[in-house]
Amino acid sequence: MAEDQRCCGRVWTDFRSGRCSAKGKIEREGKFYCMRHDPVRVEEKRIERQKQFNIKYAAWRDKAAMQERRKQMYIEMTGALIAIAAGHNDARGFAQRLVAEYHDVLNAPAEKEKTDA
Ligand SMILES: [Zn+2]
Repeated sequence: MAEDQRCCGRVWTDFRSGRCSAKGKIEREGKFYCMRHDPVRVEEKRIERQKQFNIKYAAWRDKAAMQERRKQMYIEMTGALIAIAAGHNDARGFAQRLVAEYHDVLNAPAEKEKTDA
């Protein structure tokens, strides 16, 4: 194989960077690349990895936000119970306001014990 048909991708071996020894099968702008180092494919894989990361990050962020709301709800509802027990004038109205305010949390599905997929 001609030297210029070798893949011009870089590989790390023994803490050194060297040229990929694979045959260049794809030509991009006058340079040859193997399937692993094809810049178009590398970029597609990077974009796909980023998409997967964004999906996981959004799920994690939503879960964290819901945990924070749930925590806030418990604090407020505990305060409401204490106030009602101490003789709050409008126990029903107080409870109804809290139930309406935390409607999303009260109707959210229960958290799973473990969520790694
Ligand atoms: Zn290569």
